[in-house]
Amino acid sequence: MTARKLQFAGALFDGKSAEKHPVDVELTPQEIILKKPGQKPVHWSYSNLRWATITASPFHIEHGDNNDENMETLVVEDPGFYESVLKIAPDSFSATGKQTDINWKLYAAGILFLIFSGYGFIKIIPPFLADRMVDKIPVEWEVSMGQSILKMLPVKREPDPKVLKVLQDTVDLLEQSVAGNQPYDLKIYIWPIEQVNALALPGGPIVVFEGLLNQAESPEELAGVIAHEIQHILLRHSTRGIIRNMAQSMLLSLFIGDVNAVMEGMAALVGELETLGFSREMEAEADQKGMELILSANIDPHGMIRIFEKLMQEEPEDLPKEKTASKENDLELSSYFSTHPSGQNRLAQMEKQVKPHEDRTWAPLFPNLDWNEIKPGNRALQQPGP
Ligand SMILES: [Zn+2]
Repeated sequence: MTARKLQFAGALFDGKSAEKHPVDVELTPQEIILKKPGQKPVHWSYSNLRWATITASPFHIEHGDNNDENMETLVVEDPGFYESVLKIAPDSFSATGKQTDINWKLYAAGILFLIFSGYGFIKIIPPFLADRMVDKIPVEWEVSMGQSILKMLPVKREPDPKVLKVLQDTVDLLEQSVAGNQPYDLKIYIWPIEQVNALALPGGPIVVFEGLLNQAESPEELAGVIAHEIQHILLRHSTRGIIRNMAQSMLLSLFIGDVNAVMEGMAALVGELETLGFSREMEAEADQKGMELILSANIDPHGMIRIFEKLMQEEPEDLPKEKTASKENDLELSSYFSTHPSGQNRLAQMEKQVKPHEDRTWAPLFPNLDWNEIKPGNRALQQPGP
């Protein structure tokens, strides 16, 4: 059995400069003694020391507390140094390095766990749950959710009855072509904003932006967008999208029965209404079923294609910079197609759907209507740019 080595060669860094001071290191059960040639030995009590690097040589021991700006560091390259210190030093010191090491690993694992579980909670679980729970949500629940959101939107309380009638008649006509009974009261609301867009809220409300009325050149074009939005409601996309978006507060509040959490979630949602969490699949489905609705309502389907072509070309810069609406309407909403992605593909799909119907003749929708009377640009709002 060889005697335990207690003398080592080391280097001291004073924490003030990068200069390396060679020292002789002597281990005792109470302290580490550092001897610089020609100077008095320095005594480091273990209670003021902690391991900085223990995993491999060179080993680092720090002297001073953590807040000390000029913390001294002893570096020893001898591979046996760590083992020797562990054997001679008190357990409390031996533990300092290990503890730091274990804590670091625990923290890292904890953070990783939080990131992944957080990601899972936000990105994977809500859509998963939303898709599974959406069919079980009662219609009344959807209706009250839609109404709560509607209350937060600055829709016209007294819209032009003539405009409202044309839009509502379009909805009613399309609704008659829906196969089977549908449980929703599909109702038009007008949002006085230049944005070219429309929203489908859960349970029935369809919000048409005045900018869309400006862009549409015929009732058939408008009917195309409305048919698409109707399908978002009937297919419960809006409900699903909102649940996806708000799943955290929603799920939490369902468990703890806190209605305020739901309301807060909804308030946050109003700011990001334009997305509603619709997926590409949802958009494609609303296009396809919307076009089916247009075709079975005997509405010229080229209107739907035309408006979607326009919406696709629509850039936010094309909109007038000047806001004519009140400050409530200042929400920055992006254009219809920027939130309704993969436009070209969608247009091609619609054209494919219309192809077998090219021989049909289409009677005009609302033949006695002067469409210009419906456009807000010809009434109060400015006409949007080219
Ligand atoms: Zn859509």
